[in-house]
Amino acid sequence: MFIAHLPAGYLAARGAERCGAKHPLLMAACLLGSIAPDFDLLYFYLVDSCRHHHHSYCIHWPVVWLGLLLLSGLWLLWRRGGVAIPAVAFSASGLLHIALDGIVGDIQLFAPWSDEYYALATVPALHKPWWLNFFLHWSMGIELLICVAAIYLFFKNLRKQA
Ligand SMILES: [Zn+2]
Repeated sequence: MFIAHLPAGYLAARGAERCGAKHPLLMAACLLGSIAPDFDLLYFYLVDSCRHHHHSYCIHWPVVWLGLLLLSGLWLLWRRGGVAIPAVAFSASGLLHIALDGIVGDIQLFAPWSDEYYALATVPALHKPWWLNFFLHWSMGIELLICVAAIYLFFKNLRKQA
């Protein structure tokens, strides 16, 4: 997924608010969590010299985000609110990122126990540069749909506040 992670985080925050979640950091936590797994791109470009697929780094392993979600969820049950709410939002948005990456982006679903990559669909390498294959693939429709929904809700919410 290229362009829809942040809009997906926005939709997650709006969904959480609609379900009754309230905290001043809720939106920020969802937005940050929705892009947090891709912070590994800094390591990918600056340290690893692009030698390994950045989805092989542990920050892109589902078990990491499931673990964070479990821990923050237990914290939320214990504290019954407070900063545990944005912690759950951050973790859930990180897991959402991994799920969206898994549409065409090859995720190591069972890492660290298996190095096997999984994706719902494969993007055929038909065009150059490589990223054009993704932009011309049907999965870009999902990305655009997420972006349009987020923009619509953003402006609808803006109008409601005015
Ligand atoms: Zn990613």
